[in-house]
Amino acid sequence: MHTPYYTYDTALFARTVEAAIAESSRIANAHIHFAVKSNNNRDLITIAAKAGLGADCVSGAEITHCISCGIPAEKIMFAGVGKTDSEIRLALEAGVGCFNIESIPELEVINQIAASCGKVARIAIRVNPNIDAGTHAHITTGLDENKFGVSLIRALEAIQLAHNLSNTHYLGLHFHIGSQVLDMTPFAHLARFINQIQDRMEAAGITDTISINVGGGLGVDYDDPESNPIPNFKAYYQAYADNLKLRPGQELHFEFGRALSAQCGRLISRCLYVKQAVGHDIAILDAGMTELIRPALYQAHHKIINLTGRDEHRPLHTYDVVGPICESSDVFASQIRLHEMKRGDIIAILSAGAYGRTMASNYNMRPLPPEMIE
Ligand SMILES: *Cc1c(COP(=O)(O)O)cnc(C)c1O
Repeated sequence: MHTPYYTYDTALFARTVEAAIAESSRIANAHIHFAVKSNNNRDLITIAAKAGLGADCVSGAEITHCISCGIPAEKIMFAGVGKTDSEIRLALEAGVGCFNIESIPELEVINQIAASCGKVARIAIRVNPNIDAGTHAHITTGLDENKFGVSLIRALEAIQLAHNLSNTHYLGLHFHIGSQVLDMTPFAHLARFINQIQDRMEAAGITDTISINVGGGLGVDYDDPESNPIPNFKAYYQAYADNLKLRPGQELHFEFGRALSAQCGRLISRCLYVKQAVGHDIAILDAGMTELIRPALYQAHHKIINLTGRDEHRPLHTYDVVGPICESSDVFASQIRLHEMKRGDIIAILSAGAYGRTMASNYNMRPLPPEMIE
């Protein structure tokens, strides 16, 4: 097989989806969505659809794709800070379950477009809880300084406006504090923040909130994915079960991306050259930041295995592992221990199922990597 390519363990993906569903039984009225920006592979989305999951989409193309993979439109949440007019129209025509709205101007535009095509848009307001998810700055989304969502004051205004507009129907609130969150404390904080907002809203006469959407963010074990292939859904849901006071009949929505897809994917690559630099050895792979940009973009770490060297029981040696792209940030790992590397060895980069293939680019005119199913 020509490298580099992605390979997905669909059995592990299915087991992870099952765990996410099974553990959610501790929540009265849970609805789970797959954030397909993490992975849009058709086979994976089809498994999610068959298990009854909805989808969290951030573009018109993702909406069309998810529907074609069997996700019912009414289980699709349409999120994103910059929805275009044509995407809004597409989502209305498809009949998506909810628009997660990020500003008052967006709410007004959605109302206008809905009126022009004779539809009513179901909407939730994305509120920025100003909670630090304690994760990397580029994947923290719930602080006031981020571009996402609206403040609590603006949210109350937006809800009043949504009630007054003729072609919007208010469903509830949406939140998303960030990604790769392993400490459950920020989720507990979010739950308590939601309790305060609900009190404030009820005091302001808003009593028709039927849906609370807490977004995604649950992290995975990038250091030891083989021992921990399935994230700790139990502890995650427990943070909400213990802290969130849902009103009778309210739905609680979850949008998992990474937690469902990261561990089922591997990027398979080949060692092109081993180069002796001053004081260290550099292994140059045929995969780079064009296939997997996370290390270059947010200093992410992925476990790397020399599959050939391991099979041949070669001794361990220290390497920098880099890609072939003409950028200094195209480095997968520095000073890691690997079975001795030789030209032609097959190298696996683990936990690459989330934000891997979906972020791949054509930089340097490289083709997008193919995807294989195991
Ligand atoms: C990206 C995103 C998610 C998924 O995030 P993960 O950290 O991958 O779980 C969920 N909801 C929204 C609104 C998002 O933007």
